[in-house]
Amino acid sequence: MKIVVLGSGSAYSSRSRHNSCYFVEAGGENFLLDCGSDAMRAMQDAGIDFFAVDRIFITHMHADHSAGLPAVLTAMHVLERKKSLTVYIPFSQIEFARLWLANMFIYNGRMSFDVTLVPLHPGALKFEDVELEFSKTRHLEKYSKHAEAFGIVPLSFSVIVREGAKKFFFSSDLASLDEVKNMLDGGVSFVESTHPSLEEVAALSRSSDMDVYFTHIPMELEDGGGWRGELKTKFGIAKMNSVSDGQVIVL
Ligand SMILES: [Zn+2]
Repeated sequence: MKIVVLGSGSAYSSRSRHNSCYFVEAGGENFLLDCGSDAMRAMQDAGIDFFAVDRIFITHMHADHSAGLPAVLTAMHVLERKKSLTVYIPFSQIEFARLWLANMFIYNGRMSFDVTLVPLHPGALKFEDVELEFSKTRHLEKYSKHAEAFGIVPLSFSVIVREGAKKFFFSSDLASLDEVKNMLDGGVSFVESTHPSLEEVAALSRSSDMDVYFTHIPMELEDGGGWRGELKTKFGIAKMNSVSDGQVIVL
């Protein structure tokens, strides 16, 4: 299994960290986890072949995880991609995604390739020799009331990718690290660092027996940032185990 970090930034991406996006090669499948607003540039920067992607999984519809989708699909069309592509969208918002893309003139027959939108549900999906197991997170629960007014059920997922004995866990966005503490054993884990408390980030930084990397890095956790400083002064953590854009991890 190979994981290429395309976007390790937070919602406010920076020159060195794009919005959430990861390219994964596993079990004969190539896919993107998330497609943040600058995913097209992130793919170009990392030299990812736009024809190599078989599937795109959107963990939730926040712009820093999903808004790059129309641009990536349009780029594939401009490049005259022929192979069809499957895009997985949290099930409660798939009709929105269909209309959203259609309003950008992204629909089958017009594009150089077909796009199939598939509703993403909690549970496991199996392709070739890879399995992706999606679990609901509580990241968007805070919006329930407002979302209800629009008839939207807010859904967000984390995912475990398994290829034989190899395991990669991507938390995507959370409400708290409590949600995923039982998913970090074995393999490699990418855990977001924007929404959990600094206490939680510090506690996980200390448990060095697991292969956990922080991602979704906010400016505050960059060198010179306020939280980064506090990690050192309040919690004694001088070095944070985080991924960076362009980093490749092979399991
Ligand atoms: Zn989010």
